[in-house]
Amino acid sequence: MKRIAVYPGSFDPPTMGHVDIIERGAALFDELIVAVAVNSQKQPFFTTEERVEILKECCADYPNARVDSFQGLLVDYAQSQGASAIVRGLRALSDFEYEFQMASINRKLNEQIDTVCLLTRWEHAYLSSSIVKELFINGGDATGLAPEATLKKLAKRRAAG
Ligand code: ADP
Repeated sequence: MKRIAVYPGSFDPPTMGHVDIIERGAALFDELIVAVAVNSQKQPFFTTEERVEILKECCADYPNARVDSFQGLLVDYAQSQGASAIVRGLRALSDFEYEFQMASINRKLNEQIDTVCLLTRWEHAYLSSSIVKELFINGGDATGLAPEATLKKLAKRRAAG
């Protein structure tokens, strides 16, 4: 049986930390679905389409990774895709509390889908989408922190003023 996992997130925008989890998740599962969570309550920095486009470029090197977006309950989406696992990344202790809560709720909702947390590489431990956005807003350079596809979209945003 094919082992399918969903890696969900806001990815607003994708960072090198996300790319690292994609690479490692794709190595662990037969298929990895990188899924942009559409949250109508939040005003995103990049549109869902832009984030999907960036992630598609990031996944180009991993033939068993594909990109999608979803709305509603994650476990329902995961089940609709035939996934048996949810992949998440852990940076600091503060991530753990949130991830533990989400994993517990998701297990309660669907016992068949387990959550697998991958520990960040130490060089990405401080890295978040918020840091990349903050840098951009203040005129900084996010080279090395975000993948080329994100940097290109940020440059486009800057050029547009
Ligand atoms: P969400 O809003 O769902 O937390 P994010 O896009 O912020 O979405 O993150 C998606 C997932 O990627 C989360 O599990 C988060 O912990 C993980 N992640 C984010 N940044 C890093 C990083 N630098 N290293 C490892 N995992 C990360």
